[in-house]
Amino acid sequence: MLTTNQSHARGFVWLVGAGPGAADLITLRGLRLLQAAEAVVCDELANKELLQQCSAACEIHFAGKRAGSHSATQPEISAMLVKLAGAGKKVVRLKGGDPLIFGRAGEEMQALRAAGIPFEIVPGVTAATAAGAMAGLPLTHRDHSSAVVFVTGHQCAANTAALDWGALARLRATLCFYMGVRRLPEIARNLLAHGMPAAMPLALVSEATLPAQKIHVGTLRDADRFSAELAGQPALVVIGEVVRLTDFAAEIPQFHAQTVR
Ligand code: SAH
Repeated sequence: MLTTNQSHARGFVWLVGAGPGAADLITLRGLRLLQAAEAVVCDELANKELLQQCSAACEIHFAGKRAGSHSATQPEISAMLVKLAGAGKKVVRLKGGDPLIFGRAGEEMQALRAAGIPFEIVPGVTAATAAGAMAGLPLTHRDHSSAVVFVTGHQCAANTAALDWGALARLRATLCFYMGVRRLPEIARNLLAHGMPAAMPLALVSEATLPAQKIHVGTLRDADRFSAELAGQPALVVIGEVVRLTDFAAEIPQFHAQTVR
């Protein structure tokens, strides 16, 4: 059963968030749509176990995109969605996490609109909330942080001007960097240069919700070491006072140094 009240004689695309990793973190709506899909275009980060839910007749396309090794360009993926739905198919575009957060849903929506293809977005659990949950780390807290910022680590080198580091450093928010592991040393340098204290706690959660999950906690001083240790793994970097509240706070040395019991 499709959980939408529209009838789709023509093709249709659902941009579905697969969740951060563990297969059972997809929404019930996303699961039902996968089961009913006639074609699926699957992201690199989406858990492939989910594809077992598809019917035998469903055609499955992989559109993996990872730093450095592109197996399909974004225009190619958008064109594939237009072509499949244009042929009358019910298409699920399965994306890691939430489609609207660094998920390139914007480009795909533009292409679908331009081609007159109807679509719907099904949200998913994004990596930041999954990382917070796994590390026992509230992304907001009434005493520590009133805002959460989702930032891409990708922009740092090529397009530093696009990020206002001074604003990020001053905001007293929880900063969640996606795609930030490789550039973590640069992220830390930028924040320090704009007045963030070196003792600001930082957590890195890699492969959140998957069996290989790892959690590192420290401070901005540990940025270089963490970056080297975790290079190449999808990891979420959380920077902010709330990291002191993690289940793993005992591993933040400066935390002890600063705590008065
Ligand atoms: N749309 C996705 C994000 C895609 S960008 C979402 O909403 O989660 C890819 C980045 O997401 C990775 O570089 C990493 O920073 C983060 N990420 C995705 N899955 C993750 C996981 N299981 N654990 C930690 N970080 C993850």
